[in-house]
Amino acid sequence: MTKFKALGLNEALLQAIEDLGFETPSEVQEKTIPILLQDETDLVALAQTGTGKTAAFGFPLIQKIHSESRTTQGVILSPTRELCLQITNEMQLYAKYVKGLNIVAIYGGASIVEQSKQIKRGAQIIVATPGRMKDMIGRGMIDISKIDYCILDEADEMLNMGFFEDIKDILSTTPKEKSTWLFSATMPKEVSTIAKKFMNQPQEVTVGTKNSGVDTVQHEYYVVGGRDRYEALKRLADANPGIFSVVFCRTKRDTQRVAEKLIEDGYNAGALHGDLSQNQRDLVMNSFRKKQIQMLVATDVAARGIDVDDISHVINYQLPDEIETYTHRSGRTGRAGKSGISMVIITRSELRKIKTIENMIKQQFETKKIPSGMEICEIQLYHLASKIRNTKINNAVDNYLPAINDVFEGLDREELIKKIISVEFTRFYSYYSKVKDLNSSEGQRGEREPRSSKGTEVSSDGSVRYFINVGEKDGYDWMSLKDFLRDTLEIGKDDVYRVDVKDSFSFFNTDAQFTDLILNTFKEFKVDGRFVNVEVSKSPEGGGGRRGKDKGRRRDKDSKKGKFKERSFSKGSSQRTGKRRSKKRDGFF
Ligand code: ADP
Ligand code: MG
Repeated sequence: MTKFKALGLNEALLQAIEDLGFETPSEVQEKTIPILLQDETDLVALAQTGTGKTAAFGFPLIQKIHSESRTTQGVILSPTRELCLQITNEMQLYAKYVKGLNIVAIYGGASIVEQSKQIKRGAQIIVATPGRMKDMIGRGMIDISKIDYCILDEADEMLNMGFFEDIKDILSTTPKEKSTWLFSATMPKEVSTIAKKFMNQPQEVTVGTKNSGVDTVQHEYYVVGGRDRYEALKRLADANPGIFSVVFCRTKRDTQRVAEKLIEDGYNAGALHGDLSQNQRDLVMNSFRKKQIQMLVATDVAARGIDVDDISHVINYQLPDEIETYTHRSGRTGRAGKSGISMVIITRSELRKIKTIENMIKQQFETKKIPSGMEICEIQLYHLASKIRNTKINNAVDNYLPAINDVFEGLDREELIKKIISVEFTRFYSYYSKVKDLNSSEGQRGEREPRSSKGTEVSSDGSVRYFINVGEKDGYDWMSLKDFLRDTLEIGKDDVYRVDVKDSFSFFNTDAQFTDLILNTFKEFKVDGRFVNVEVSKSPEGGGGRRGKDKGRRRDKDSKKGKFKERSFSKGSSQRTGKRRSKKRDGFF
């Protein structure tokens, strides 16, 4: 009780708090209440659900309102009708001993006339859902042009639900010199956009770590034959050109073996396990921190001390013996507010373990397919194209330009582009166009019959894969891109899946029924003045009919040799002699 008093709350509130039985302030209350009581300031507060955010803004708001005036002074926006009512109820309990204070709830699905009457009687505080609020402002039923305080509660949810435009319109009818308090559990890009656009040097309060929730990690599994594990690992790496990952193996021997094979195949890999000397381990960890190693193959024990924040992928080459260990593994990614992906390479006989893990982590896995050779080719192709585009021009080439122009004389732009791309791509294509499908055909969950639609390429599970020309460079990760697509297309939460964000482009899937909607929506579509373009990807997952088993195997064996050569060549002659390890591998090219 005395602790609440120390925050600066007045007698009326302290009495109500006593009635409620609150004994000590929660962390978010302790941090925000003094700031909000003392200063007229904008504020962003991040705290998980259930941490007492309502009181964190409710107490100071009630204390600062002049209840003798009937003017509307405070507005609280909240995403749903339920929350709106819940906040109103809580606030009314807090304000129990404040005479003349009216707190009114405004939300859709109830009589607008009745709500309007309540407002007319004088509501110093209005708690509202954005849709109804905008509606009532439009009809002249509410005047919020004199408010002093605007609170955006559960801001991430409101934006998730597509209320950005409504919020913008509502805020445009409020006075400039008010204080805006934003409360949110997470801080996705859209929320920081709001903070930047509509707030004035907000103070920031964070409780716990930002996005500490495990929901920043996406869990995926890939069903393959036991002998295809290594090949699958390589494909996962090739399908993610910017990968920065920890690959977990069960034993020291496997760890060493997989790392050695990866290095031999031209990847920037390293091993971390207990048979290495301390000195060797330090060297590996240093290279990993500097991202000279993109794939750190490790045992569970050795990986315990890894304190690197921006790991993009955790790959379970094999599942751990103890299921509990999985959490430690996946927790290596999705740290410090970033999102991450935890992949499991699994055989059919181990599938039941996925259920056990799901129960343990209280999150669902997504069944995914090892990308087909053509799909990887496509990813690498776009990667190469954007790499060329983003390459800084070396002015030393100017001297040679006249001669080079002579060489290229007579080639038009399109031809030239095709040729430049083909220099690298042909070698790559010739490897991956021959490889087999690695996905174990039975035992995957949720498989559907193919559904075709007007010549679009529909994959075996009835979904269509798309290419979109935004990626990490534009500030997206799989979560925010999913949110963006969902909001833009106004489709359901689970209608967009298999979101793979690469450096400057991404892929995603939807069921075939959404294809028209998507292609129409993204015709001439601009974000921040830039065209955002979506196309149907040419290689839907699963690739095309290369399932002949024996043929596939033999070819695979041949091409493995071929590939080693290709990788060496593509690195240039100086690296052919063993320097590969220290060179940063950037995709295939
Ligand atoms: P959030 O908005 O952060 O999800 P709420 O404001 O809805 O959290 O609070 C969650 C629950 O905790 C509510 O039932 C509320 O009455 C209760 N509560 C809030 N502050 C305290 C406190 N200091 N002590 C005890 N219970 C509290
Ligand atoms: Mg809340």
